[in-house]
Amino acid sequence: MKKIVVFILICAVLFACTGCENKVQETVYAMDTVMDLQIWGADSQEGIEKVKSLLKELEDDWSTTKPDSIIGQLNRGTLSEFNPKQQWVLDEVLKLSLRTGGSFDPNLRSVVAAWGFYGQDYRVPSDDELQQALGQDQWDLGGVIKGYAGQEAVEWLQTLDIDRAILNLGGNVQTLGNKPDGSAWQIGIQNPKGGDPVGIVSVYGTAAVVTSGDYQRYFEKDGVRYHHIIDPQTGKPADSGLSSVTVICNDGMKADAFSTALFVMGLERASDFWRQSGDFEAVFILSDGTVYATEGAALSGCEYEVISREK
Ligand code: AMP
Ligand code: MG
Repeated sequence: MKKIVVFILICAVLFACTGCENKVQETVYAMDTVMDLQIWGADSQEGIEKVKSLLKELEDDWSTTKPDSIIGQLNRGTLSEFNPKQQWVLDEVLKLSLRTGGSFDPNLRSVVAAWGFYGQDYRVPSDDELQQALGQDQWDLGGVIKGYAGQEAVEWLQTLDIDRAILNLGGNVQTLGNKPDGSAWQIGIQNPKGGDPVGIVSVYGTAAVVTSGDYQRYFEKDGVRYHHIIDPQTGKPADSGLSSVTVICNDGMKADAFSTALFVMGLERASDFWRQSGDFEAVFILSDGTVYATEGAALSGCEYEVISREK
């Protein structure tokens, strides 16, 4: 009888422990944006600290504006050697750029600077100035680095035996493992016009859900809105009829590069690009609010047009 009571007690304690699995949540400011980190598990506090130091390290390495970053040194022509990881990042970025036909262009620094986006010193450059800026191949990895950071962060967490986390790095969401109750993570897609999310994307396990939108960074001059996603053909904010693109992919860096690139391409070209690919899904919000989603996007909570494999 005593043994049965002890057994029942142990079961009750185990059940209680799984129910209240240790979770740490913290809001931090990094990479010019507010980030929300949620990590579960016995070592979740250590996990948070690791992620914070990783974000700081990646910001120091890849910042477009810090003079001593790898990018700063590259742009000044004073960096002659990379370590293997840095070389890998630059190689991957160039491959992603090639795959998007140049719609993702990591060399737009001079153009972005001409619009004043770095110091919020906004201005509208002349066409001549833009042509000149387009001719200067200056690095800016702002379109990819948060996605890369999310991906690196979950790889680090796994080395600490942490298998459950959700990191919202300012519009770039990275999940690790399943939700505690085994259900899918529910990620809201921001309404470009503000208010409640437009819809919800469900993802299981480890995935990146990355949004590029014209509402994320912009200025207005003489009644015209100028946003931060540049069409590399013109040097001007992409005028593709889209307000946002969300990419769902198991690779954070790819998701980030593609969200930027698909925004530049516009709905038609982006849909064709998706049809030729097999490694991501996407949700598009047009400037008039209409929503489109590729057939595997698992979008709910709103009406939308489905983009099929067959045209
Ligand atoms: P995202 O918010 O990921 O779409 O990235 C936008 C940021 O990437 C901008 O603030 C620029 O620093 C940079 N950028 C702008 N246009 C492009 C582009 N066509 N390709 C790559 N990076 C870009
Ligand atoms: Mg991006």
